[in-house]
Amino acid sequence: MLHGRRIVNESIETIRDEILACKKCPLWETNNKYVPGEGNSHSRIVFVGEAPGREEDLQGRPFVGAAGKLLTQMIEKVLRLERRDVFITNILKCRPPDNRDPLPEEIEACTPYLLRQLEAIKPEVIVCLGRHSASFIFDIFGIDFPGISRVKGVANEVNGTKIIAIYHPAAILYRPQLREDYEKDFKKIASLIKKNRKTTLLDFL
Ligand code: SF4
Repeated sequence: MLHGRRIVNESIETIRDEILACKKCPLWETNNKYVPGEGNSHSRIVFVGEAPGREEDLQGRPFVGAAGKLLTQMIEKVLRLERRDVFITNILKCRPPDNRDPLPEEIEACTPYLLRQLEAIKPEVIVCLGRHSASFIFDIFGIDFPGISRVKGVANEVNGTKIIAIYHPAAILYRPQLREDYEKDFKKIASLIKKNRKTTLLDFL
């Protein structure tokens, strides 16, 4: 459905402004705020979660609740970056009511924004946070997705872009025994970030 599209020279701000006026699926009727994503539009690394939660919906910012706090800790402690150095977004830009799973038609309607964001940023590394994000991104890049527990922490490289999936940080809050393993996955992410920025396009989109 999305293969074959090519959009170049589009700014993150242009995409954000379009998201802030979007009515492409019914979620605009129940959201408090749109959550387009935030961070460095020249970042070499982009984190992609599932959808805004309650706190994100209220603030219009991604990953600002308890799970976001853990994500920020990992970015600072393990990647040794500031949160503002990376770009953080979700596959859906509006909160599904009661934090239910995204519906296929919502993913279909919203993910062109994500693809345009990735095209604009041209990250060297894409980190999928959780199964919904990983399922979508892996499919776009033509990578098998047998389940988040099977693929987590394993890097793939497609057309010069590295794609890695890890658990959603909310999963670590529910299962703190996974925290040590989570840090190991972030160390793998750190190893993927190279000194020289690559300028590869997502050519096949
Ligand atoms: S979830 Fe995405 S497609 Fe649906 S209204 Fe919000 S921005 Fe538009």
